Amino acid sequence: MIIYGYRSSHLLTEPITGECLACSASTGMRMSVFGRYAHVYWVPLFSIGKVGASECGHCQQVLKPQEMDSRLRQTFQELEQRAKVPVWHFIGLLGLAALVMWGLVASSNNHRANQTFITNPHKGDLYHVRTSNGHYSLWKVQDVTGNAVKLLANNYEIDNERKVQALNQPEYFAPDPLELTRYDLKIMLEKQEIVEVERPESSVVVKR
Ligand SMILES: [Zn+2]
Repeated sequence: MIIYGYRSSHLLTEPITGECLACSASTGMRMSVFGRYAHVYWVPLFSIGKVGASECGHCQQVLKPQEMDSRLRQTFQELEQRAKVPVWHFIGLLGLAALVMWGLVASSNNHRANQTFITNPHKGDLYHVRTSNGHYSLWKVQDVTGNAVKLLANNYEIDNERKVQALNQPEYFAPDPLELTRYDLKIMLEKQEIVEVERPESSVVVKR
């Protein structure tokens, strides 16, 4: 269950002049303005306007704006305009915007890294390959000679791309490599048949 709704926070309270509509006391009237905001799990998302009331210090009568006479309502509108909605009423929305921005930057960085890796394949690179039935498999670069790239396909596939690393066992790979060109790989990446390129740190070290 998601807990959401709206809450209010106090913005200002000021004494006002004029008579109480109930007890006719000429002093002791005050007015308050509250900022209302939408929340999810009590985290403010965004502001949804202001509410408020007048209160008589003598008879304690509380009037909402729709119950006020025109003079009181005008005073309320003036106070309402002066009351500033704090930035934290928007904190959730700002956070979401930041998260979306971060996600866009991260995904574009990842996209660039994939392109860099596929243009210049290294022995040991792992490709997350989408199979024709929508599952995922893991290919490993065995050798690169000029434009030709030898890859070991995996004998297995898995339905969740995040778990595709589970297929990274030496005995799971086919013994005979298939051979593609760098260009083939680039096309596969563009067509999202290769969805992710992993370059293990150790593959940078050339074994002799
Ligand atoms: Zn009163």
